[in-house]
Amino acid sequence: MRARTRKTAAGPGDRAAVADTPATGDAATGDGGDEPPRRGMVWLRGVAVGAGVGIGVVYLHDMGLAPIPEYRIHSGLVEHERLRFAAAADRATNQLRALGNRARDLPGAAGEELSCILDAYERMLRGSRLLRGVDQRIVEQRVNAEAAVRAEMADLIAAFSAMEDDYLAARAGDIREVGRRLIRNLTRRPGPQGLSGLPRGTVIVAEELSPADTALLNPRIVGGLVTALGARESHTAIMARSLGLPAVVAVGAVMDHARAGDAVVVDGAEGIVILNPDDETLARYRGRRAAFLRGRRNLQRLRTVPSISRDGTAVHLQANVELPSEVDSVLQSGAEGIGLVRSEFLFMNRDSLPGEDEQANAFCDLVRHMDGRPVTIRTLDLGGEKLGDALNIKPSANPALGLRAVRLSLTRQDLLRIQFAAILRAGVLGPVRILLPMVCTVGELTAARAVLTEVVEAFRRAGRPLPDSMPPLGVMIEVPAAALSADALARGADFFAIGTNDLTQYALAIDRTDESVAHLYDPLHPAVLRLIHFATGSAQAAGIPVSVCGEMAGEPRLTALLVGLGLRELSMAAYALPAVKQRVRRIDLGAATQLAHRALGQPDGQHIADLLDQFNAK
Ligand code: PEP
Ligand code: MG
Repeated sequence: MRARTRKTAAGPGDRAAVADTPATGDAATGDGGDEPPRRGMVWLRGVAVGAGVGIGVVYLHDMGLAPIPEYRIHSGLVEHERLRFAAAADRATNQLRALGNRARDLPGAAGEELSCILDAYERMLRGSRLLRGVDQRIVEQRVNAEAAVRAEMADLIAAFSAMEDDYLAARAGDIREVGRRLIRNLTRRPGPQGLSGLPRGTVIVAEELSPADTALLNPRIVGGLVTALGARESHTAIMARSLGLPAVVAVGAVMDHARAGDAVVVDGAEGIVILNPDDETLARYRGRRAAFLRGRRNLQRLRTVPSISRDGTAVHLQANVELPSEVDSVLQSGAEGIGLVRSEFLFMNRDSLPGEDEQANAFCDLVRHMDGRPVTIRTLDLGGEKLGDALNIKPSANPALGLRAVRLSLTRQDLLRIQFAAILRAGVLGPVRILLPMVCTVGELTAARAVLTEVVEAFRRAGRPLPDSMPPLGVMIEVPAAALSADALARGADFFAIGTNDLTQYALAIDRTDESVAHLYDPLHPAVLRLIHFATGSAQAAGIPVSVCGEMAGEPRLTALLVGLGLRELSMAAYALPAVKQRVRRIDLGAATQLAHRALGQPDGQHIADLLDQFNAK
């Protein structure tokens, strides 16, 4: 959860909140009738995150950042809501059982006392009045599970508190504890029956969605994603893109207008969301959706053609992976390898840390699937907006500047050792590289290398198999300090991967997840291009490989510019790869180099964008 204060003020999405017919929220939330009456069409605008057009039915999701919302649910979603609640209760049982086991290991009376209390909580989750009452409210009152828990909890607490018997009155506190845990499980991290168990065609509409929640979405089921907050380069947006979900973020007014069960169109290319589209609009967007899918299929034909420019320069295209399930689309995209595995996926949506075996299994699977193509595994990049619950990281006032990424790994070297060991095991099966996120100093690289050497030595002593050659150890260039000292870092690093998402964030002092400054986030700012240029040149001078693996790499509009800046390796979401390859094949290196040269001399991002548009139009 981010430390940033939530905004109720308008995001860019409010610019064009236009209601054809004023949205009358009450019409859908009133008490009467079996089905909510059809409501008027509402057009909303936000920030396009990509991947075509989605058409489906609204599912309102709350992360628990706001006061718990109370909303009526569509009759078609009652069963789903009951399952979601049952999953939250199961999860609470498991959590309490695990806590009870730990309490029993505590020395002395405290452990005994604590485990008795936890047992009592756990019993409350077995067919108790609390559980039955919540389920009944969902079915009879058609309210969301969080609201049902809150209402049932309030009734039970009132009843127990009124009791004369002190022991029974004290049970009110127990109910509060268990109720809160249920609400937390429902709102913060839906279990497998939650976001991952939705009916086909569901469009998730939320104030905000964490990267961990997004990771639970099944793109074959979920039809799209709309959030009131967020920005184009946030991890949630990146995850949505790599899952191929039509998504629009920063749609400021969406929570005021959307109701569960509304029909909705999500235009991820134009950044438009239409609630309750009329028949004509729906037909138009069905047509656009079909055209988008046709275009994607056509690009697929490029899968096996080489990625070389008109003058014969090879530009190696690799894919980024946030979740293991993406590996099939990586192979289908024709990627030459995986240029970035965001290993955070292993730490999300869980209470315990993944051990060496679990991590090794995940990495080995990727390496096996890639069948000899290189796989670059980034060590843990948690912190910032990506908090792992199992790590128990204290949210800091400025998460993006806090204990995250390699800083965290060097503080918790036990975790880094496990990751290195798991990667070495995968390296026995095929070529792997190790990438350190958010390096700022040569000292961090040296310290991480020392840990890697220790782990390799430990493998040798134990007679464990090691890769034929040691995996190269590279650094992400994503902090201006790293970019500006790239010449020094290049002497110790085996390769660079330029993370333009964070590089832009830190160079311009723009929170990449904050919709209120999203319009100022500009990877084309000359400062960012100069940092990329210097880092690329430093790598070339030192003779080490350099790639871009931020979102810029996946934008065909920017391909000529990056190639002109000297890049010959780009790593991107798999879905973007065919379009970038198509662009590479139209580029002439001489012209691209001239373009980059001219871009570096422009006063601001707008001039550079104009220059690019002229160049691309030729
Ligand atoms: C980046 O910052 O550009 C990058 C690739 O890393 P992430 O998006 O995971 O922060
Ligand atoms: Mg980054």
